[in-house]
Amino acid sequence: MRWGVVAASLLVAACIPKSEPPAVRGDARGSATPDKSALLCMAELRREELGFRALPDRSFANGCSALGAVQLTEIGTPVTNLGAMTCPVARQFARWTREAVQPAAEQWLGSPIKRIESMGTYVCRPVNGQAGAKLSEHGRANAVDIGAFVLEDGRRITVEEGWTGEDERVRRFLRTVHQAGCRRFGVTLGPDANVHHRDHLHFDMGRGPYCR
Ligand SMILES: [Zn+2]
Repeated sequence: MRWGVVAASLLVAACIPKSEPPAVRGDARGSATPDKSALLCMAELRREELGFRALPDRSFANGCSALGAVQLTEIGTPVTNLGAMTCPVARQFARWTREAVQPAAEQWLGSPIKRIESMGTYVCRPVNGQAGAKLSEHGRANAVDIGAFVLEDGRRITVEEGWTGEDERVRRFLRTVHQAGCRRFGVTLGPDANVHHRDHLHFDMGRGPYCR
């Protein structure tokens, strides 16, 4: 596939509305035993001293699934609204938080991060919520959306207001963590990608690499 075609298809990679529940729910079939690659990934989470619980594999009749998924419970920084994530997304997200977000906050904003606000992980829907589009990586629990960062000093930095806001240090912080996402995830999308991402950063481990 030519680059232009790849780029065009990735530009519409889906994100999810705020109202959607983050957790896997509904009727599902599946086994309780993750496959080998998921087990290896979970061993990495333990080695990196990340708190998590493994979730049973679930496959839904409409094509959505959560296979080899975990729920992160302790990664050093509290994160709200985190539901099921495939282990590779969870691992990269925890690394991004520890290795990139906290240092960037210290560097650009002069305060550690107290809390990261997620806008969700698993949700069964097509890309950008548009009927007929292909299944979003969120429908495979393979993505996470981040909307805001709350600092220890009390400030709350949102992607929506900060990305093109007046405070240059906030803009630099957000671009730094966006770029850090590009180095760790298959696909990273932010407000420059399209209107669907004006208020959050989207990270997934689907196709890629793609960074915008
Ligand atoms: Zn998303």
